[in-house]
Amino acid sequence: MVIHPVIIIGAGPAGIATAVEVLNRGYKKEDIIILEKSGEIAHMIAAKYPDEKPVLANYKERIAECIGDLCITDMTKPEFIDYMKEIVNKKGLKIHFHQSVEKIVKLKNGQWRVDTNDDSWITNVVFVAIGNMSSARTLGVRIDDSIANLIYDDIQTIKSNQKDILVVGGGDSAGEYAQILVSRGHKVWMSYRKEHFARMIPQNLEKTQSLINEGKINFLPNSIVTKITDSNQRCSVSFNTHESIVVDGVVTALGSERPKTYLKQIGISVEKEDGDDFLENEQGGIFMVGDLASGKSGGSINFAFNSGTKAVSKACSLYLDCDA
Ligand SMILES: Cc1cc2nc3c(=O)[nH]c(=O)nc-3n(C[C@H](O)[C@H](O)[C@H](O)COP(=O)(O)OP(=O)(O)OC[C@H]3O[C@@H](n4cnc5c(N)ncnc54)[C@H](O)[C@@H]3O)c2cc1C
Repeated sequence: MVIHPVIIIGAGPAGIATAVEVLNRGYKKEDIIILEKSGEIAHMIAAKYPDEKPVLANYKERIAECIGDLCITDMTKPEFIDYMKEIVNKKGLKIHFHQSVEKIVKLKNGQWRVDTNDDSWITNVVFVAIGNMSSARTLGVRIDDSIANLIYDDIQTIKSNQKDILVVGGGDSAGEYAQILVSRGHKVWMSYRKEHFARMIPQNLEKTQSLINEGKINFLPNSIVTKITDSNQRCSVSFNTHESIVVDGVVTALGSERPKTYLKQIGISVEKEDGDDFLENEQGGIFMVGDLASGKSGGSINFAFNSGTKAVSKACSLYLDCDA
């Protein structure tokens, strides 16, 4: 079996930046295998970002100081997708789409075997760049089955005739979803468990707050959703502190966490919650990059780019034939 020095799992910002850095260190494109679960690059961004959302360079208070080749300034979503596609094409990166990793096994000689749904590869180093979105936090309350299809974790499929929408959360995504829903003509409520928004970047805070002041977002501070029941095929939402409301859809924007169950299932154990920029597994040779390593403060695109770049430098010093 051919040995590929590097396998990258996930073709989002972290995965692509990792591949570019491996090329910069003298490896050839044939040395790198990129395995992507979906049928497109940057799938999470393509699928989850609302089309009119600006892609911000400084996100979640992460200041954009790029250390590698890849770096974004503020841009639109189509511009970002084009930027990623251009890099992949220019560098000739080969991405294996629709690959689902089922097992990563350490071989006696120290190399790794990566098994997917339809193939196996042998490698020296694995970079895992799958993001956290498969592990989005849920409300954890009783929801009637008959309206479960009206609970969303993004706003992509909300229809214009769903007039009344509740957004739950108080971070940047919640603020952006609420702003965009208002601009699309929906009547919007925001439920947040605290009195004030503390986690939004200034531009989101300012825009969200002014929509609240103008009465375009009905803000329910200090509120916790306690149950959601069916009211004639609409969602009747109960809170601990406020009167219940009836809406046509509920969007949860509660953040996400590392998909530990999946990682364990495929054979990766990581004890640490936070790395500086990336994490390495306990046995060595498997690096977690991008959102997977971003910890509680959450990730950003430029953080993902930097994370891949720094992990490659570490891998060069330990496992690959390149200068750190
Ligand atoms: C709504 C929203 C708005 C945001 N806005 C901004 C912003 O304006 N600016 C900013 O800097 N950041 C923003 N972020 C954060 C930013 O998108 C992430 O930090 C960044 O995308 C992380 O990159 P990543 O490569 O680690 O993971 P991801 O972007 O999640 O990419 C992971 C890739 O791996 C693939 N994958 C997943 N599981 C597997 C698997 N098992 N096997 C193979 N492939 C897999 C996915 O399909 C995807 O292509 C936002 C996030 C959200 C959710």
